[in-house]
Amino acid sequence: MKLRLAHLYPDHMNLYGDRGNVLCLQARCRWRGIDLEVVRLGLGDPFNAAAYDLVFIGGGPDREQVRVAQDLTEVKGRALKEAVEAGVALLAVCGGYQLLGHHYRPAAGPDLPGLGVFDAYTEHPGPAAKRCIGNLVAQRNGMMLVGFENHGGRTYLGPGSTPLATVERGFGNNGRDRTEGACYRNAFGTYLHGSFLPKNHRFTDHLLGIALERRGVRDLLTPLDDTLEERAQVAARKLALEPRKRFPWSDQM
Ligand code: GLN
Repeated sequence: MKLRLAHLYPDHMNLYGDRGNVLCLQARCRWRGIDLEVVRLGLGDPFNAAAYDLVFIGGGPDREQVRVAQDLTEVKGRALKEAVEAGVALLAVCGGYQLLGHHYRPAAGPDLPGLGVFDAYTEHPGPAAKRCIGNLVAQRNGMMLVGFENHGGRTYLGPGSTPLATVERGFGNNGRDRTEGACYRNAFGTYLHGSFLPKNHRFTDHLLGIALERRGVRDLLTPLDDTLEERAQVAARKLALEPRKRFPWSDQM
């Protein structure tokens, strides 16, 4: 069995080990005898809507987002939206997530147009604003999600997207409404770095399950020995719930 993943902008959008998400998907496939081919697509490379089972885009600073926003609008956007409508499993982290909303207003400079995959918009309050930094724990229909967030932008969801999870500790989308991330069809956006997927094996398998199901394969998502993954998640949750160090550049929680 072979699956194919498009890794978008690996050279420009790769903060806090975001590439680990791709490695994790590959490892959990390999352990089940599934071959996950990873195709790296950078600035200028076209995106073929029918070619992929999974899509991943990581986070990046405002500077890189300017170039990526332009490429998304001019080169890959139409086909990427087509793939999302067709049900491709997509994960977007932080800066990538922000660019899949309607717009991102950076700390300085003009608004960047987003793809509008998610009914959401993001605005950075400006260069003097404090950042949302720290370990986060959230709940998604009984599934715990943990990770590390570091963003200046605050995201607000419209009725066309549902939150990925509810924040137990941390800032999430905007530090106010306790939402974290967004979902639309099989596309998921999150503020969680970390890397996100190695710490959240159930969610990783959720993505793989979607990809396999779309290929009509129902019996390959076999259980794995997740003892270490469970322990990592418990440790990450503990860390997130501990009293916080106060950093002058981070907002208070
Ligand atoms: N530039 C964005 C922000 O600070 C995204 C940062 C990131 O991807 N971690 O809001």
